[in-house]
Amino acid sequence: MSDHQVTTPSFDAEELRKKYEKEKSKRLRRDGEGQYMEAAGEFEDFVKDPYVKAPLERDPVTEDVEVAIIGAGFGGLITAIKLRKAGVKSFRMIDEAGDFGGTWYYNRYPGIRCDIESLVYLPYLEEIGIRPKEHYAHGAEIYAHCQTLGRHFDLYKHALFETKATNLAWDEELSRWIIKTSRGDVIRARFVTVSQGPLSKVKLPGIPGIKRFKGKMFHSSRWDYGYTGGDTNGGLVNLATKKVGIIGTGATAVQIIPIAADYAKELYVFQRTPTAVDVRNNRPIDPDWYESLPKGWQQDRMNNFLALLSHKQQDTDLVHDQWTDYWKRIAVLAKEKKQAGSDEDPLAIMQQVDYQKMEELRARIDDVVDDPETAEKLKPWYNYLCKRPLFSDNYLEAFNKPNVFLVDTDGAGVTEITEKGVVANGREYELDCLIFATGFDVAAAAYKVGGYDVVGREGLHIDDKWSNNLKTVHGTQLHGFPNFHIVGGFLQGTTAFNFMHALDIQAEHAVDLIAKCINENIASMEVTSDAEDRWVQQMEENHNMGIQRYFEECTPGFLNNEGDTESKPSFLGGNFGGGTTEYERIIRNWRKECVEDDTAMTRLE
Ligand code: NDP
Repeated sequence: MSDHQVTTPSFDAEELRKKYEKEKSKRLRRDGEGQYMEAAGEFEDFVKDPYVKAPLERDPVTEDVEVAIIGAGFGGLITAIKLRKAGVKSFRMIDEAGDFGGTWYYNRYPGIRCDIESLVYLPYLEEIGIRPKEHYAHGAEIYAHCQTLGRHFDLYKHALFETKATNLAWDEELSRWIIKTSRGDVIRARFVTVSQGPLSKVKLPGIPGIKRFKGKMFHSSRWDYGYTGGDTNGGLVNLATKKVGIIGTGATAVQIIPIAADYAKELYVFQRTPTAVDVRNNRPIDPDWYESLPKGWQQDRMNNFLALLSHKQQDTDLVHDQWTDYWKRIAVLAKEKKQAGSDEDPLAIMQQVDYQKMEELRARIDDVVDDPETAEKLKPWYNYLCKRPLFSDNYLEAFNKPNVFLVDTDGAGVTEITEKGVVANGREYELDCLIFATGFDVAAAAYKVGGYDVVGREGLHIDDKWSNNLKTVHGTQLHGFPNFHIVGGFLQGTTAFNFMHALDIQAEHAVDLIAKCINENIASMEVTSDAEDRWVQQMEENHNMGIQRYFEECTPGFLNNEGDTESKPSFLGGNFGGGTTEYERIIRNWRKECVEDDTAMTRLE
């Protein structure tokens, strides 16, 4: 039930299928994921922290703690809060950034917001009595919430900021992890949790000539307000005399473009794949309504949202937005088919809804964009979930401005960067400023993102463990790596469109197990090799072939390994295929019933 009123277009499914295939083939590239570069070495400047004004000076720390938490974004914060609640007071949080926040620390580009409703996204709102301003929170409010959590739960004293973990090694004799950092710290911890989020490792396109450009350039996650002026709300007054180019039309770019369009003398949007943008319908949160919410509302709302997006029947839709709309439509059609006695493949039902939804989004572009040629170029031709669905009430509108130019590259992308600007469609566009809204290495394993070595029992490096075969228990624990927990583990683990929910589930798992060890004098707990084999088998039994097939047909992107699903499963294909709610049930049950059999434990003397 969409809030946006457009006439439902009729469509020819076969024609759409062919069109999607044709558009996909334009975007396929031989170099696949190899087309991107890491922002390292000579490109290190792209990830320099622009927010640390005076670098921190401090002596190295040498200490013993119960738990070391690597990463102080939401994953680390939730873990720390749960540890406190479990009565564990001795823990250390380590993060390269200058404050709590992770993704929300680095990403401060103009227009930044979260596309998941604030009431289900922002943790501990109910508990600490905070009412977000709007249903879809501004980035600055989310970042401030991280600091509020830090203060409220007294976490600042545990944090070592501007500190990069460089090496995590298990010391068998001590039964401790030895953590070394960029500042010479040596932290001996009984347990380690790692939470490097999927949006931490900046991705740059390997476009020839990138180093030649003489103008200003930066990645969206390190916005240079010194150059543009303004802040996350706008006010980019210095761009009034500038020709600005932006590469990318993904979730980030869609938020930046409307604001940049308000200030730049000229804004050139270099588009490789058009994006599907639904209405946002953001609005303030009514204080009276908020006050009237029943006790326990936040967990109920989170559960309800997760259940609906996991194809689970619900009596009510508490969030009631464009996310739930899509899944509810599938549920309704599936019910109708069942009642009519049809046993149609669930994927075919989903496809029917998908065509319908995408037709509506394409019709919306015709409604909003004045110039028919520009409108045509902005139309996405792929299934709804092939890219993260986007929502905006001012993105498409920006293309009606006389200073905004869409440079559609028909799947080819920008082909060269020169001293003066960029080359697309064989033409050079001269620019003063070039913004890379080219995303992150989303599918990298958590420890890879952190850039540190993890060495387990008997000197086993995690890279060697996983060199031929990814093996874990629940995507969070590894044989050979005692007392080691991944929070935010989606490889063989789980994820959710509301990523906060997945973090919460895995943080609870890690903290329950750590608390068990502390309370029961267990020095080390390590999942067995047999337990890993069983989980791998359970992964296979629950493998969601439907999801895999869905992504195989998608336009290339990070969700389907740039169109190569043979050498690596799609992002969601590598997760536990039974869904996040089932995953939560399994790991809770495992803690109750299987932990003794599936782990090797040594007791404290
Ligand atoms: P994405 O990876 O989604 O987008 C990168 C963009 O850069 C794509 O449009 C891509 O084109 C384009 N691109 C890459 N190389 C080239 C090239 N050579 N020439 C032209 N274009 C190129 O990154 P984002 O930062 O936008 O988003 C990453 C993730 O961050 C999202 O999926 C989402 O999970 C998260 N996010 C979440 C938000 C939220 O509200 N919760 C807000 C913002 C981000 P192509 O599509 O063809 O690959």
